Formats: sequence, C-alpha cells, structure tokens
Amino acid sequence: MYEKSKELLNRAEKVLASGVSSEFRKYNHPHALFYTHGSGSRIYDVDGNEYLDFTLSQGPLILGHSHPEVLRKVEEYSREGQLYAGQHIREIELAEKLNKLIPSAELMRFCLDGSEAVQTAFRVARAKTGRQKFLRFEGHYHGWLDNVAYGISTPGIEALGSREQPNVFPWTAGLPESSREDFIVLPWNDLALVEQTVKRYHEEIAAIITEPIMCNNGCILPNEGFLEGLRALCDRFGIALILDEVITGFRVGLGGAQQYFGVTPDLSIFAKAMGSGYPISAIVGKREWMELIAEGKVIHAGTMNSGNPTVAAALATIEVLEQENPYERMYRLGRRLMDGLREAAVDTKQDLVTQGLGPMFVTYFGKKRQCNDYRDTLGNDKAKLSRFIAGLHDRGIRVIGRGLWYVSAAHTEKDVDKAIQTAADVLKELPI
Ligand code: PLP
Repeated sequence: MYEKSKELLNRAEKVLASGVSSEFRKYNHPHALFYTHGSGSRIYDVDGNEYLDFTLSQGPLILGHSHPEVLRKVEEYSREGQLYAGQHIREIELAEKLNKLIPSAELMRFCLDGSEAVQTAFRVARAKTGRQKFLRFEGHYHGWLDNVAYGISTPGIEALGSREQPNVFPWTAGLPESSREDFIVLPWNDLALVEQTVKRYHEEIAAIITEPIMCNNGCILPNEGFLEGLRALCDRFGIALILDEVITGFRVGLGGAQQYFGVTPDLSIFAKAMGSGYPISAIVGKREWMELIAEGKVIHAGTMNSGNPTVAAALATIEVLEQENPYERMYRLGRRLMDGLREAAVDTKQDLVTQGLGPMFVTYFGKKRQCNDYRDTLGNDKAKLSRFIAGLHDRGIRVIGRGLWYVSAAHTEKDVDKAIQTAADVLKELPI
C-alpha cells in the first residue's frame, strides 16, 4: 500500500539527504511517505491512501488542512507583494492581536520558526542578566540548534545518572564542545530540586526554559505549583522565566498555557499553531526584557521575517480561532477520544494509557497510570507503541510515532468515533 511512496523515496534519496527535509520525517510508518494533498481532518498520499490525520503536521494545523480562510488571506496579501525588506501594516495588526491575547506579550518580534525564536530568547536573557547559562529540563525539546540539541534520546534510565546531576547526551555529531557549557539540566516537575540548584548556581543562570506542558515526551501537565514555583524562583534570583509555547500556544487556548495556568513568563515563544503551517513564530515578552531588542542592544534579524504570506496565515488563523472559538469542542472531542481509547484498552485488556489535556494527548503502553517526568516515560513499552501506531496507520489513522495525538477544529465526532473503533481493532491484535 506504500509502493509509490517507496519509489519516490528511492528517487529522493539520490538528491535529498536520506530523502527528507527534516530528520523527524524519516520516522513515518513504514518509511518516509509522500503526500499529495490535505483537506480538513484528512491527508492523502501518492498511493491514494486517505488518513484521518491526528498528526496535523506535528501540531501547526489547528484549523485542519487547507482552511479556506487561511488560503484566501494568504493569496490576497501575497498578491500585494511578498516581502519588502521593510514594514507593512499587517504585522502591526498581528502584533496588536498577540498583545491583546497573550498575557506577557507586551513587546515582540516575528521570526520563522520555534528554534530561532528560542535562541533569541536566550540572547535577551543573557544580555539582561549578564549571566551565561540556561536551566532546562530532561525530555523537553527546544529545537534542533546547537545548545539545545541534547537529551533528545537517551540510552536508558540508568544512563541518565542521578537526579541532581543528570547526564545528558548529544543528539548529533558536529556540536561545538562549548555548547554543553551553555546549560544545566534537571528532571522536570521537581520544584525542590530546581530550588536547590538555583540557590547554588543562580549567579550563572540567565534563564529557566520550560515547556509549560511537557509534550515532547509524554504529554505531562505541570505539578500543582510547579510553574508558580519557577516564577517565584526567577523573581527572587533575577532569572528570566522562558515558557516555550511552541506546542501549547494557540492550542490550549488563545492566550497560551500562560493564560491557562495563570503564570506570566518574562519571555515566551509561539510558533506551530500560530501560522497554520506557514513559517512564522514570535518571541514575545515583558517590556523590560524585550526592550533590549528595541534599544538595539540585542540584535534580532532575518531577511524572510514577517513576509506577507506568513503574516496573512497567522492573522487568518487567529481570526478564525477568535470568531469560531473551537476550543470547547476541541477539548470535548479530545477527551471523548481519550476516554474511548481507555475503554477500548480495558475491553481488550491492554495496558494502554492516555494522558494529556484533550487538544493534545499521548498514548503509551506501560504499568504507570501516569507519567510525571521524562524518567517515567523511559519505562514504557516503545515496541508495542510502534506496533499500535503502525496498525492505526495501515488502517488510515495517522498519529505521531511517539504516541502524540493532536485534535484540530476540523475534526468531528464521527472522526473521533472512527479513530476509537479502529484503535479497538488494532488493540485486539496486539499481544497482552
Ligand atoms: N520548542 C518546542 C516545544 C517544540 O516542540 C519545537 C518543535 O517541535 C521547537 C521548539 C522547535 O520549533 P521549530 O521546529 O519550529 O524550529
């Protein structure tokens, strides 16, 4: 059922390194696939297979594929011009929107993706505090650039070492040795440990960066008081609190996780769902931090930033989200899906667990009924998960390989019921 994709992959491998343009695309089932089009909650491949898509291109397609209003606005603004090496009124409109919606977005800059916006945040934090390091957490992903390309995978729980001084493994060859000096790493959701570490090293720490919900390994909510505790520690020691909202932004609500949890960061990053698949991201923050960019002390640049098509996509996406307010539905459908999968697991005696909020959640196989940090996730049965995801895929349900499901405004109750029924069929075939 994947023959044409295989042929194209063979052809692609001759000119594209491993046939793809992003590392993660290699890990599709059963190999990198080639798609022809997407519409609403569906995506289609070159072999004519239709998939009910819970991948949503790794998160961005919050309105589903090819939303007509996004396409209309992108076309309209693109006809006027593409990129001016200068300003246009639409980027003010977009910034005003973010300013209104996101609690910490007093001042901002637009970029192209999450990775570079994260690095901009580090630069601002270093410049303002005069300190060099950032504190990050095991299992979180902050892009693929040098100083965050660590800890993406791990040889196993023993290899991680102590909780107080974890080992962290480079993801790639070619990293400058100095990049390991940029950060301190700790397990997540352990405020006492963060406090102990910050008290000891605060003179070196410019920023604490965290995903507000850990979505890159599991889909783990912060313990009660954890984000608030980070906020208090940052205030006490003059450290920047950076919320990496690349996944949570516009997904958990219009004001991001910072509004959902009521914790206001100094700096935060928005990307994925902000632009419906067009390359736009934002570094937003409190004036006292972002004014370093305004004053020109911290440089942020980019030839391609805030072109007409990307700003149009972001404006259209956010306007549709504001007008249609699909969040209540997305939560409801996501929870219905989680509940249905749980019931199917009970019926088939499978140790399948679902964890998350609804608009995004994770499925895993394991003994733990809930994971609380990255170390917990390492005990899960990855081989069984791969078989589950592959079984779903072969039956037309597309889910991210690590078990993450994204629900969009385009998904329907029928879609959800179909996914549950299909999952039940797959679960029956898995070993218990
Ligand atoms: N931060 C988080 C939380 C992410 O999930 C990602 C990407 O998945 C990034 C940063 C990097 O964003 P991008 O892939 O747009 O560079």
